[in-house]
Amino acid sequence: MKILANDGIAKSGIDALEAAGFEVITDKVAQERLIEFINENDVAGLLVRSATKVRKDIIDSCSNLKLIGRGGVGMDNIDVEYAREKGLHVINTPGASSASVAELVFAHLFGMVRFLFDANRNMPLEGETHFKELKKSYGAGIELRGKKIGIIGFGRIGREVAKIALGQGMEVLAHDPYCESAEIELNFFDGQKANFNIKTIAIEELYKNADFITVHVPFQGEPLIARKEIEMMKDNVGLINAARGGIIHEEDLLEALDSGKVRFAGLDVFENEPSPNMRVLMAHQISLSPHIGAATLEAQDRIGTELAEQIESLLK
Ligand code: NAD
Repeated sequence: MKILANDGIAKSGIDALEAAGFEVITDKVAQERLIEFINENDVAGLLVRSATKVRKDIIDSCSNLKLIGRGGVGMDNIDVEYAREKGLHVINTPGASSASVAELVFAHLFGMVRFLFDANRNMPLEGETHFKELKKSYGAGIELRGKKIGIIGFGRIGREVAKIALGQGMEVLAHDPYCESAEIELNFFDGQKANFNIKTIAIEELYKNADFITVHVPFQGEPLIARKEIEMMKDNVGLINAARGGIIHEEDLLEALDSGKVRFAGLDVFENEPSPNMRVLMAHQISLSPHIGAATLEAQDRIGTELAEQIESLLK
């Protein structure tokens, strides 16, 4: 049986699929040629990340297609319900990248509290001529230890963020209307474990007390955090969005950064991907990354292996 991994797949996934007897095609077929290619090659499984769209046209025209797989979480690029109605398996790998996204949140956080993102912009320009001035302007950093992190959305990624925060000596304030409490198990390199039971709290309480707030919810159709919510937060709060563009309203965030209400922000996702607002990109208080939360070798390996395991159990 043939599997077309149209947006690529880690070697771990190819190896596992081949070992199970599948033929894996890793050609990148153009969107407009996909139907023809799938039919000509009798492809049974189509694997995508976010680039390839799997809409009704493909589902209707490729009668031998049995499975659509998304390497990652969000399935906005697939007509999931329609495909399932037509009897296709639609799978994803929801947990495979959680730890990577959580680490990226802390990459932004650690960088933010010591102004590394801004120092990295200015050192090449002025480090040689204005070293002392730069040293002074980045001189009021703060530590994460002992601070309170607000985690909105206490699902897979939110809980991974909590693990790192607890290990860092932070207090975790979590809010999730669908979760009352969660057991968080920290696993150390030598086999020791530490267990925490985190009870979620009301959003107002989180806004009032958190020094940093990070969002890990699905996109809600409208911003979860806009001017009204920002006003409820502590002065000098730091905000992070590594979930979906627009969960934090960008214009309101820019306004709050200008007024000083929000001290800094970390954004991995943007309202207008792949052409984010230039004012967001130019804001000197924002630590930026181009939607790379899941983009680690380890996460891609886990995605490949998880897809292969599911495909084997569904198609064999
Ligand atoms: P998840 O489904 O495990 O957790 C989401 C949690 O949000 C759930 O516990 C749910 O109860 C909670 N929730 C829903 N509505 C809420 C609300 N209004 N307020 C508070 N909590 C609410 O999902 P996950 O795997 O943790 O992913 C979270 C987000 O991260 C998703 O938006 C996903 O698309 C995004 N993500 C981003 C990247 C990246 O590259 N930056 C990678 C993977 C996932």
